[in-house]
Amino acid sequence: MFAVHLMAFYFSKLKEDQIKKVDRFLYHMRLSDDTLLDIMRRFRAEMEKGLAKDTNPTAAVKMLPTFVRAIPDGSENGEFLSLDLGGSKFRVLKVQVAEEGMRHVQMESQFYPTPNEIIRGNGTELFEYVADCLADFMKTKDLKHKKLPLGLTFSFPCRQTKLEEDMDVDILALVNDTVGTMMTCAYDDPYCEAGVIIGTGTNACYMEDMSNIDLVEGDEGRMCINTEWGAFGDDGALEDIRTEFDRELDLGSLNPGKQMFEKMISGLYLGELVRLILLKMAKAGLLFGGEKSSALHTKGKIETRHVAAMEKYKEGLANTREILVDLGLEPSEADCIAVQHVCTIVSFRSANLCAAALAAILTRLRENKKVERLRTTVGVDGTLYKIHPQYPKRLHKVVRKLVPSCDVRFLLSESGSTKGAAMVTAVASRVQAQRKQIDKVLALFRLTREQLVDVQAKMRAELEYGLKKKSHGLATVRMLPTYVCGLPDGTEKGKFLALDLGGTNFRVLLVKIRSGRRSVRMYNKIFAIPLEIMQGTGEELFDHIVQCIADFLDYMGLKGASLPLGFTFSFPCRQMSIDKGTLIGWTKGFKATDCEGEDVVDMLREAIKRRNEFDLDIVAVVNDTVGTMMTCGYEDPNCEIGLIAGTGSNMCYMEDMRNIEMVEGNEGKMCINTEWGGFGDNGCIDDIRTRYDTEVDEGSLNPGKQRYEKMTSGMYLGEIVRQILIDLTKQGLLFRGQISERLRTRGIFETKFLSQIESDRLALLQVRTILQQLGLDSTCEDSIVVKEVCGAVSRRAAQLCGAGLAAIVEKRREDQGLEHLRITVGVDGTLYKLHPHFSRILQETVKELAPRCDVTFMLSEDGSGKGAALITAVAKRLQQAQKEN
Ligand code: ADP
Ligand code: MG
Repeated sequence: MFAVHLMAFYFSKLKEDQIKKVDRFLYHMRLSDDTLLDIMRRFRAEMEKGLAKDTNPTAAVKMLPTFVRAIPDGSENGEFLSLDLGGSKFRVLKVQVAEEGMRHVQMESQFYPTPNEIIRGNGTELFEYVADCLADFMKTKDLKHKKLPLGLTFSFPCRQTKLEEDMDVDILALVNDTVGTMMTCAYDDPYCEAGVIIGTGTNACYMEDMSNIDLVEGDEGRMCINTEWGAFGDDGALEDIRTEFDRELDLGSLNPGKQMFEKMISGLYLGELVRLILLKMAKAGLLFGGEKSSALHTKGKIETRHVAAMEKYKEGLANTREILVDLGLEPSEADCIAVQHVCTIVSFRSANLCAAALAAILTRLRENKKVERLRTTVGVDGTLYKIHPQYPKRLHKVVRKLVPSCDVRFLLSESGSTKGAAMVTAVASRVQAQRKQIDKVLALFRLTREQLVDVQAKMRAELEYGLKKKSHGLATVRMLPTYVCGLPDGTEKGKFLALDLGGTNFRVLLVKIRSGRRSVRMYNKIFAIPLEIMQGTGEELFDHIVQCIADFLDYMGLKGASLPLGFTFSFPCRQMSIDKGTLIGWTKGFKATDCEGEDVVDMLREAIKRRNEFDLDIVAVVNDTVGTMMTCGYEDPNCEIGLIAGTGSNMCYMEDMRNIEMVEGNEGKMCINTEWGGFGDNGCIDDIRTRYDTEVDEGSLNPGKQRYEKMTSGMYLGEIVRQILIDLTKQGLLFRGQISERLRTRGIFETKFLSQIESDRLALLQVRTILQQLGLDSTCEDSIVVKEVCGAVSRRAAQLCGAGLAAIVEKRREDQGLEHLRITVGVDGTLYKLHPHFSRILQETVKELAPRCDVTFMLSEDGSGKGAALITAVAKRLQQAQKEN
């Protein structure tokens, strides 16, 4: 018993001494936590340097864009070819991805030798050889008749310009092995967004936000970056941690001065580092009694597999002895313990360095996502990681220590990079196919210049048609005379009431106009119009309106005051005078019964009578476009057009009386309310209407009517988007093919969401958040597509609206026989005011289609209220003048 204890004591003392000795000798190779954190920081700086345009040329870590933009989503399927051109062997695979929706991969492969002269030869020879092998493979596997997409794994740094490179066969993807590893793992674990290789060499890749990649155009989504981290330190950034052994190894290597980080980490070098250390220790008399063998002097005699064997738990010491004896040495017990510890220090440093750089990548991923904690998976491949008994454990532990804010899972890449190449190819081929389908849909919304010119010409024709006596009755663009004959001249004054019944709310206003100073003060109150009243009976609607007026008068302390009133009524009305307007037909969200064909002023008067509380002097019924034009005209006499892009779409303008056949007299001008929303109701623009427009139309309150409005205004744009999203989902291109109850719900996609989603300041993640708030569970890729859809729909709307406006300004220019026309358009409407691109695209289109018109756009400040009051004031003045005459 005692002897056993004594032996144990002796052994542990011996071990302690040896370990102390080696620790002292190699203390420079043992990296403290602080040093690792410092290296992590340095690598982060390196990544930024490689990503930025200005610093990339001099960056040691090249951060190569791979043009791989998506990880597998499980819907990939088909047969793919894959080539793996890496170290010593060259492999061709046929990969069958997914059968019946299962995540399932089947492979058949064949190895071909890569003769040295081919590897060292020129690129053409290499590719010819590869092509020959491929041809052979296709023949033996009976694939000659098929044209399969091909992925190529290339484990050398490779600047890619495009994923699809061409070399006779249909190469879809050129893949770095790190990327292949990430993709293979991502097929099994969708959280996988980084890949690391720790084998003969070392390298890593991860998914970076496109907005951070200067070298590639575009800001949407992510792209895989091949870091080429092996070159970290090539600019001297790691000099302080490199040891004399690293320097010696580098000098003896094929590429001195290059791949500094890799030379401290990867399998090609670990054994050699150990050998150099042992030799030095032997020379110093610290090992083998100072004896050296010729094998110990020989480069490459210790390999990584030896290091792994020596560190093996239990058999490690015996293995060490055997290996040293094979090297012609006569190791003592103490020597074996010391040599084993040398191996541990060298391989532990490798794991530490790898962990530090990986920790930097994970931190970047977490910060890109702006999350406190990141759950993520790292795909790993490489023989060192696979065969070394302690390596994975050490790596995992250090990474977790360095980035406590990440929950990291490490996933061993199963069949290595070759399967990955097939995965990349499969994804590229899925993305390509999906892209084609999405583009096909979006193309329906892209209007060519010719199409826009055609819309302009047709609008022009309809405008003329509506002005003529014999065609007026049937015109779809109704060209309604408003009996507003002049702009305000600045002498208007007094207190007025104004009512604004538009698309969404009802407002009552008190407007005080002071002459001379052109100053207007307004007080107003907004009242909601419940849906059941919008779509109830006419009497109910007007009773509700009068109720709101009574509330307002009460609130303002004006009960009993009989003020002149202007009624902004933003629906098509046929007017015979300024204070009479017969509703032609409801538009937008209204459908109250017994109103169409009735004079809305009469209906209002009768409702006031029914209430029998107050009286009002209704002077004018005003369209909102006219109010808008008047408001702007109050400040800019050049303003002769009013435009609304809000719930609905409409336009008015000042027309020469002689052109208005419907109204007697040829002197002066009168404002025409075009009601252009009805443009196309005769089918004249059906060639550019899409099936989505038809769908929206059929689900509306007024099917077949207001076709132009339904392509251009706020009430409908969101619905068009929703219809497209439904269709894309049905085609399996969005939301994983699942049409949610939310998506089926009419009206959920309001136009204000288009504005939010299309905002340039919004990151993709925020788009995703908006969609999630809408109840649409979307991936990042979904968010990109949704944003594109919104863009296509709003862009078309703005262009169509611009084409209409171009028609009117050109008409005015020609009518007046002018070479150049300068004109101002007063504009109102939330779509125009709040959408991030609508107004710009509209203006660009007008400029393009009416180059001889100099059009100024002026935002109207509350045209419906102020404008109504101004029109009332003008009308009142004329009334007074008539009476006095
Ligand atoms: P109206 O035309 O009803 O008198 P607005 O000009 O305010 O009133 O337009 C309201 C319409 O504008 C809403 O019905 C909606 O379709 C659209 N809209 C609301 N918010 C936004 C937004 N942020 N961006 C674009 N359009 C919007
Ligand atoms: Mg309005």
